[in-house]
Amino acid sequence: MGSALLSSCGVAPELKPSLGGYGRDEYGHRPGPQGFRTVILDAGHGGKDSGAISQHTGMKEKDLTLDTVKRVRAELGSEFNVVLMRNGDYFIDLDERVARTNQYANAILVSIHYNSSRSPSTRGVETYYWRVDSHGLATRSQRAMTSVAGESNSRGLVRRRIRLTRNPQIPCLLLELGYLSHAQESRLVASPEYRQKLARGIAGAIRQQAQIGDAGTGPLPRPINAPPSRPTDAPE
Ligand SMILES: [Zn+2]
Repeated sequence: MGSALLSSCGVAPELKPSLGGYGRDEYGHRPGPQGFRTVILDAGHGGKDSGAISQHTGMKEKDLTLDTVKRVRAELGSEFNVVLMRNGDYFIDLDERVARTNQYANAILVSIHYNSSRSPSTRGVETYYWRVDSHGLATRSQRAMTSVAGESNSRGLVRRRIRLTRNPQIPCLLLELGYLSHAQESRLVASPEYRQKLARGIAGAIRQQAQIGDAGTGPLPRPINAPPSRPTDAPE
């Protein structure tokens, strides 16, 4: 409401963010990237933070995410400068992950997670994004995961302002690769071959985005101006 009033009344020219300057770029209101060289892969959780633990397989999310980012790195090969946010079982705070991400330019961030629900029948893959410049890669990543998980197991794109989708100053995604709380899906993701397929798909999505940008990923979403996500916001 407040911002709508402001814009209809007009803002003093010196307060208007210039195109390509502070306002527009800070929020990522531009098409998706092409030709980037650096790929930051973030294994969710770690150390004292196990993430979800499967009652069916006993596997911990923090171990599966680390395994998966290493597979994505291997699939990407030497075409990219791949940075692993963590390369072992230790804890990194979300704000620290954002701070490390913001040390890189001409880069993207992909955070890998596995999901959990109190509902035992919930399953599927989904992609969280916020920035306009992350929509193309989000679309590609969701398509790639769906081609592995099956059309009926796609939960689609979710546009949500959380710390790893809103606060980095580069295109960024958070991928959920399957539910550890679902009996069948937890057994699938326990399989190294299955995780390799997901990793190959995600690497292919990254490579294609670098080659052709947003081509073929549909119209861009509308820009939304919103402040950075804080730890006190809704649970992530
Ligand atoms: Zn997680």
